[in-house]
Amino acid sequence: MGTRFRLFVQPPFEDARSSPEIVEVSSPLGSLKAGPADDCMFVLEPVGKSRPYGVNRGPLGTPYIYLPPWTGKVLEPAASDEYGNFDHLQPWMPGFEAAHVFGCVRFTLDVWERFLGQPIVWHFHDHFDRLQISILPQWNNAQYGYGFLEIGSQFEKDGRVLPFSLDFDVIAHEVGHAIIFSVLGVPQPEAEYPEYLGFQEAVSDCVSLIAAMHFPSVIDNVLMETRGNLYRANRLARFSEFSPHRQIRSASNKRTMADFVHGWKDEHELSQPLTGAIFDILVDIFHESLVARGLISRAVEDLADIAEFDQAAEAQVQHAFDRAFARNSDGFVEALLDARDIVGTYLAETLWALAPDFLDYGDVARAILAIDRDESGGQFARIISRNFRRRAIGELHAGVHLKGGEHRSHVHSARILLPTDHLELPKMNYRERVLLSRQTGR
Ligand SMILES: [Zn+2]
Repeated sequence: MGTRFRLFVQPPFEDARSSPEIVEVSSPLGSLKAGPADDCMFVLEPVGKSRPYGVNRGPLGTPYIYLPPWTGKVLEPAASDEYGNFDHLQPWMPGFEAAHVFGCVRFTLDVWERFLGQPIVWHFHDHFDRLQISILPQWNNAQYGYGFLEIGSQFEKDGRVLPFSLDFDVIAHEVGHAIIFSVLGVPQPEAEYPEYLGFQEAVSDCVSLIAAMHFPSVIDNVLMETRGNLYRANRLARFSEFSPHRQIRSASNKRTMADFVHGWKDEHELSQPLTGAIFDILVDIFHESLVARGLISRAVEDLADIAEFDQAAEAQVQHAFDRAFARNSDGFVEALLDARDIVGTYLAETLWALAPDFLDYGDVARAILAIDRDESGGQFARIISRNFRRRAIGELHAGVHLKGGEHRSHVHSARILLPTDHLELPKMNYRERVLLSRQTGR
């Protein structure tokens, strides 16, 4: 028996009517401690932690590496009910956010550990046994790094504060980074290509997307909304809308590598061609599966491909999907779950096949094609190559970084930072160290 949590599939600030669903995760009932906490991770709500982990500045301005553990005060941890479940916690109760974050992380790990074929081993296991998950309501981001997952909030112009702790997509995306580091490891600084950073973001988005597709309500809603015509705006295509970088991320986008050959500014932006290609592969495999099941005709499938670029064909396609969906909606659900599992399996196998040094999108495309050959004898080779070709992936490459210059070390990113990277930083003098220890209680 697993442990029950109450999870928002759509954050309440996106849709005021959304209420959390009761979900069972794999943690054996009764195994979780207050936090929630288990042998591999724990949630805490620090009091007075004003800065996120990563490279910080000391009181006199010297940069230093700030890593867990948090040794200061914390809020009362979330406790289970008498049976060991956490679904007694309601959104207005203290501890709900902590339980929600834990539930989302565990749910995402459950999905991806199945695809990967084994439990993930944290990339920081040399230094820490457990992942420290902290909720920082005053911080405007979310990040995973060496030993930590930190979840902040989005500050809206109208003054609203939207806690990412209630946003499944954001949390699952950060778990995506954890999975990539666990399977691939961290690149050597001099071997890190820009496309490696874009790859991190794209795959993390896909980890989140495919995890969300394991909520039956997501599948039902998406199909009700689109009748299976997934190129229409829907929950899947805009799944990362409420993330810290929502302005520049969408699974359904038209960016190609041609947009980045002369340089790039932000890895989330650079991730778009790869995310878009993988999303389109998922949709095409789904359509293919509908044809194979006799649910739509080949002619409709061909028209759907044209409608992506031709507005006039769109109404006709929608009409055909409406009719087909009304005839056999269960068949549509099965086809979509199949497509989800094929892409999930292929991505997990791709992670196992890749190495982080000198990684570019072309390597990703070649790995997926090779896996398709092994798994299905190349059943989807045409779909896969077409979608990568459309994005000029493997053909054109990201140019120089226009904002941060060359990345010659890990110090540019809290996520990629390793404890040994402190050797690159200047040494702090005694006085600053004392002032810092007073400030941070370390
Ligand atoms: Zn990210």
